[in-house]
Amino acid sequence: MNQNLKYGTISSAEAMELEDRYGAHNYHPLPVVLAKGEGVFVWDPEGNRYYDFLSAYSAVNQGHCHPKIINALIEQAKVLTLTSRAFFNNKLGEYEKFITEFFGYDMVLPMNTGAEGVETAMKLSRRWGYDVKGIEEDKAILVFCEGNFHGRTISIVAASTDPGCRRGFGPYTPGIVTVPYNDAAALGKYLDEHGKNVAAFIVEPIQGEAGVYVPDDGYLKACYDHCKRHNVLFVADEIQSGLARAGKMLAVDYEDVRPDILILGKALSGGVLPVSAVLADKEIMLTIKPGEHGSTYGGFPMACVTAKAALEVLRDEKLAERSYELGMYFREEMKKIDHPMLKLVRGKGLLNAIVVEPKDGLEAWDVCVMLKEKGLLCKPTHRHIIRLAPPLVITKEQLDECIDIIKSVFAEL
Ligand SMILES: *Cc1c(COP(=O)(O)O)cnc(C)c1O
Repeated sequence: MNQNLKYGTISSAEAMELEDRYGAHNYHPLPVVLAKGEGVFVWDPEGNRYYDFLSAYSAVNQGHCHPKIINALIEQAKVLTLTSRAFFNNKLGEYEKFITEFFGYDMVLPMNTGAEGVETAMKLSRRWGYDVKGIEEDKAILVFCEGNFHGRTISIVAASTDPGCRRGFGPYTPGIVTVPYNDAAALGKYLDEHGKNVAAFIVEPIQGEAGVYVPDDGYLKACYDHCKRHNVLFVADEIQSGLARAGKMLAVDYEDVRPDILILGKALSGGVLPVSAVLADKEIMLTIKPGEHGSTYGGFPMACVTAKAALEVLRDEKLAERSYELGMYFREEMKKIDHPMLKLVRGKGLLNAIVVEPKDGLEAWDVCVMLKEKGLLCKPTHRHIIRLAPPLVITKEQLDECIDIIKSVFAEL
């Protein structure tokens, strides 16, 4: 028995060894083991405290173990956990009414992971393309953006342009094309030529995994207009950019665009369960009939009460407003750092990235390791980009402390 442990029964070293030996090597984690979380903080087994500046890829926007969300989960867990959709349950309808009114859509299709939400949107788009738009059988095209990240399934990686996501997983699902991101004219041109067969344009309003690429103002609206001219569905994957992360409830709110299909995930449960949702109006949603799509867990009672509580926390604690204001402040402070390795700061709300110029063999990874040593956790994306995304419940004082940590690391580089 290890004497130095504050949380749990195994040390950081032991936990890392076990994962390395018995788990698939499909991730390359930073060498830190987490044993406890509360609000903006996480702790390792030895009791060291860290600011969480990843928030589980923006799933923990409401902060770790938010009492209201945890309470909803526990109370439901004592009563009824899973029914499958073979029967009705007394939580699903209430949640469906709540989330559709929250976002202003006729209907919702509940799923679990983000990738399932995207797959659902792809299937809905194709079905709508055939049944409503009248695309000839097996000719439907789904247009994605270069640099996208929508998940890891076989069909979704067919849309990826990242070799790390794609290589060795072919043959790829047909009917999928990509156009450059942040280039509405390129989409317009593609639709002018092929619009007749295009069912949907599927886009991240901000590309998160690619490295927090924020498109130019007006890009989303221009794409939306192109879609409308060609009777193409505009599908927004707001799994990472949505739910207050980027300073608005949805990132499309910056341009007053209302997607035909909206995909949510990650923070929809506040980091408590895998819960995703696809929202659309009846004309689209009702093209899928009983037995044609679903998931055993999708819409299970625990997910319903958890997601409702998670959305209420975003609304009641005004986390979109907080994200907007603190995000402005954070970028201002980051831009004050004068260091040859800090090339660029970008983002919206509390979804930000700093682009690092490698120097003397030091890369983004090394900066993250140094930040970790000083009590701040984040993760590089694509070698030279560090995404900075704290839980949105962070206070100004806490953020100031984090800004000091980041500044002190650059001062030492
Ligand atoms: C994380 C993410 C997904 C995939 O979600 P999973 O729950 O990991 O399947 C899809 N789209 C975007 C934009 C994401 O950030």
